[in-house]
Amino acid sequence: MNYDRFDIKAIAEELDGHFNKYDMDSYTGQCSQCGNFVSQSEDCCAECKRPGVWFNSKIWRDLYGNPTSAARELSGELPTTATGLLLLKRAGVRFFPSVAEERQWARDENTLGYVTMEDVIKYVVDTKKRRGRAAVNHALNLANSKYKQYKAEQKDLEVTPAEETPTTEMW
Ligand SMILES: [Zn+2]
Repeated sequence: MNYDRFDIKAIAEELDGHFNKYDMDSYTGQCSQCGNFVSQSEDCCAECKRPGVWFNSKIWRDLYGNPTSAARELSGELPTTATGLLLLKRAGVRFFPSVAEERQWARDENTLGYVTMEDVIKYVVDTKKRRGRAAVNHALNLANSKYKQYKAEQKDLEVTPAEETPTTEMW
């Protein structure tokens, strides 16, 4: 998770009879990274900047909009490769859709190399003029088919290994 999820309803359930619904706005959450308290008027921890999303909070919704969309925007996986970073930067998004997609991209970069992956990004962003999630998905599909093509070619090239010549003792 790239963010903390806070929920007024969950707090109310936890506090049970002790929850004061007339003082709902004063309840705070706690940052999972540094332990700092996060109020409902903050969209990240004031201390360490870890993003936080409040559910069922009127204050938060008024300030930052729909928490579900905000959470979706924040969910995903950070890139671990140079071209993954480049792809997200050019597409204008912060994360890969999920761990699986990030791993696929890393696998493709490891197999196909930096230049091929850079070509994929240039094609999607510059030639096809795609941005955002659409660009990331398009690039992922393209890289995946290139990976499959490469693997198929490698298989075709596989030849039966030459018979091993017995090593002769020199002395
Ligand atoms: Zn923090």
